[in-house]
Amino acid sequence: MTDELMDFREALAKYDPVLGLEVHVELNTNSKMFCGCSTEFGAEPNTQTCPVCLGLPGSLPVVNGKAVESAMRIGLALGCQIAPWCRFARKNYFYPDMTKDFQTSQYDEPIAFDGSVTIEVDGVEYVIPIERAHMEEDAGKLLHVGGATGRIQGAEYSLIDYNRAGVPLIEIVTKPIRGTREKAPEVAKAYVSFLRDMLRSLGVSDVRMEQGSLRCDANVSLMPRGETELGTRTETKNVNSLRSISEALRYEIQRQAAVLSSGGRIVQETRHWHEDGGYTSPGRNKEQAEDYRYFPEPDLVPIAPSPEWVEALRGTLPEMPSLRTKRLQADWGFTDREFGDIMAGSALDVIEDTVAAGASPASARKWWLTELARRANEAGRELTDLAITPVQVAALQKLVEAGTINDKLARQVIEGVLAGEGEPDEVVRSRGLAVVSDSGALEAAVDRAIAADPDAAQKIRDGKVQAAGALIGAVMKEMRGQADAAAVRALLLERLS
Ligand SMILES: [Zn+2]
Repeated sequence: MTDELMDFREALAKYDPVLGLEVHVELNTNSKMFCGCSTEFGAEPNTQTCPVCLGLPGSLPVVNGKAVESAMRIGLALGCQIAPWCRFARKNYFYPDMTKDFQTSQYDEPIAFDGSVTIEVDGVEYVIPIERAHMEEDAGKLLHVGGATGRIQGAEYSLIDYNRAGVPLIEIVTKPIRGTREKAPEVAKAYVSFLRDMLRSLGVSDVRMEQGSLRCDANVSLMPRGETELGTRTETKNVNSLRSISEALRYEIQRQAAVLSSGGRIVQETRHWHEDGGYTSPGRNKEQAEDYRYFPEPDLVPIAPSPEWVEALRGTLPEMPSLRTKRLQADWGFTDREFGDIMAGSALDVIEDTVAAGASPASARKWWLTELARRANEAGRELTDLAITPVQVAALQKLVEAGTINDKLARQVIEGVLAGEGEPDEVVRSRGLAVVSDSGALEAAVDRAIAADPDAAQKIRDGKVQAAGALIGAVMKEMRGQADAAAVRALLLERLS
């Protein structure tokens, strides 16, 4: 990394960032956009292909009706208008993972356009204007072999897997987002997080960023404060985690500010985000739309959804995320601050699922925001990527409430579950973690602790109950943590009263 960066606050004092976010969503239809091939993730390379998605001569595409329906539901959920008539277009360019040398996409006739969504960051609402949501197909996947980094640079050869070629995509494009100031990175992250929640509640995508079923390209430009003319933007590609979105934008704002303030010009280009190093590097110079020579796709009929169909789909929309969060906060009885921590930690879904599995909201919140958040953070992953499920967390909490384990032992159980040692109760058994409920053993340990520290014992007899801490500690140590501290305390006070 050799970029000069300006301090973030200083950059904001001089410039106004303007965001533009392009989010690609892979739909979870069973078959591809224009053929009947399976879209199952993770199959053997090139086993899910046919003449259509391989672009062989004479093959003809047919639109996937389910994908069109998903596109319209997404558009409606984004507050968009649904086009009464629209077409696909060919976007012409060469790329080895694109069989036809063009991508079937939509250009000036998107199926959904002109919407907006409202998101909230730190108690402030931001309206995100949506320009369009259009349908297109995914490309295949290149695997670069022989290099150290898996990138094309230094690779000996490349392999192509066409299983993904033709998988339905929806691209959701915002209009320029102004006025977010120093919150720009957080607003972008909150918007993508909002989309993820919304798409999940619509049931149209797996929205797994790490598998690429939700991908974000983050555009940002700067304009001198007080001006209104947009500056030249850069587009940072395929930022594949929520955290990376805000980090990549923060970096670009600082980089562009340094270039502009030293009299330089921003080059319109795509840039790559390096998650490990925390910086962006230049990719290709960005093409203009006219470079793609778009023209209407002659092999596909136009799409003209009837008003009745659109209205029927509107009726299938689920509760929108903003209403859902308000409802959950009320149901769970959390303060704004407690609930804000849940939102900031992207823990709403896992906590909801944990509560659904029988845990109290407070205990679900505690595990996901402390022990599990810490482990996710250390591993640089999302909570949902941890190898523990909400059902397992609820089972863990049940063991705590039954007195089988205490909180401290529960953390060891979590460690075991994450290490693949099985369900919480299995980990308790195999690691021998249960709290000792044998009262004889506990009483003996208490008696030994009293005998070993007669001074402390005498203080307790004299009514200085705070002296019990040392003795409880000694008993817990002897029991290797496998005792219920409250029971130990009760037993001690009983013995010494
Ligand atoms: Zn196919």
